[in-house]
Amino acid sequence: MKLHTILGKEKLTLSFEVFPPKTDADFESVKKAAYNVAALQPSYMSVTYGAGGSTSKHTLAIAEGIQKEYGVPTIAHLTCVGATKQSIHEALENMRDAGVENVLALRGDRPSWMEGEPFTDYHYASQLVETIREFGGFCVGGACYPEGHPDAADKREDIRNLKTKVDAGCDFLTTQMFFDNNIFYNFLYRAREAGIYVPIIPGIMPITRAVQVKNAVKLSGCHMPERFINIVDHFGKDKDAMQQAGIIYATDQIIDLIANGITHIHVYSMNNSKVAQGIQANLSAILNS
Ligand code: FAD
Repeated sequence: MKLHTILGKEKLTLSFEVFPPKTDADFESVKKAAYNVAALQPSYMSVTYGAGGSTSKHTLAIAEGIQKEYGVPTIAHLTCVGATKQSIHEALENMRDAGVENVLALRGDRPSWMEGEPFTDYHYASQLVETIREFGGFCVGGACYPEGHPDAADKREDIRNLKTKVDAGCDFLTTQMFFDNNIFYNFLYRAREAGIYVPIIPGIMPITRAVQVKNAVKLSGCHMPERFINIVDHFGKDKDAMQQAGIIYATDQIIDLIANGITHIHVYSMNNSKVAQGIQANLSAILNS
């Protein structure tokens, strides 16, 4: 099922993200973890793509398996790092043959192991969106950054570039993680003011281990509010307490988003079905309201 059908309805959606294994040896255990998330029957699931295409066959296998085994629609991520037009066409043919109808079109980042120029046929995700549109038959999503993408000179330039990407054919956008909803509301206002009218789905990252904080800041450069830092300081050393506090913080963010009129929520569940289940259970009555 194409995601724009689901996102076009007024019903609240809760979706989960999982990642594929890095090696063939890990495939079965990672697949099991991803399937445990799928068993929760979210509205849809996204499956990430390893840096430089290192996990492309696993991304597709997991996305296809989730649809077939659990009937949950999936979106496969695809980056254009080190890609040629031909390799992208092959990837799209494989997705079409596997019945995966949704693609999150990304530029990606150069992995540390990659030699040579990583961006030849494609320099920006908007060019990948154009190719996918020319190929036809897919619902296309793109990424966006409420705090600005680190490569952009400033937030205005980033929004201009985002508008180019949406005009190239994005059906919707999913945001980078953020921990202060005011940052999202401000971004949403600026995006709408710039003429970006597609659904913008907030991406919520439940931080359930103190070590994730450093990674999150390193990966996304996102702002950590004082309230959240205090929670990690206080509960970070107790595994169960930190997990509970992280699930509640993420739930609190989601409830505030829904109360402010946001109908689609994406959770970076990171193959952790306990965390996904905890958030889903906290929202059970709200999701059916
Ligand atoms: P783009 O949209 O191309 O933007 C990248 C930069 O280029 C921005 O600074 C933008 O302002 C600038 N830019 C864009 N167009 C132009 C232009 N025409 N001229 C000048 N500047 C321009 N990475 C993975 O490897 N695998 C994944 O599965 C993955 N999933 C992700 C999911 C989400 C929801 C998000 C938010 C990120 C994800 N990433 C993933 C990370 C992403 O690949 C990186 O953040 C990457 O640096 C940018 O990708 P993009 O598609 O946003 O790039």
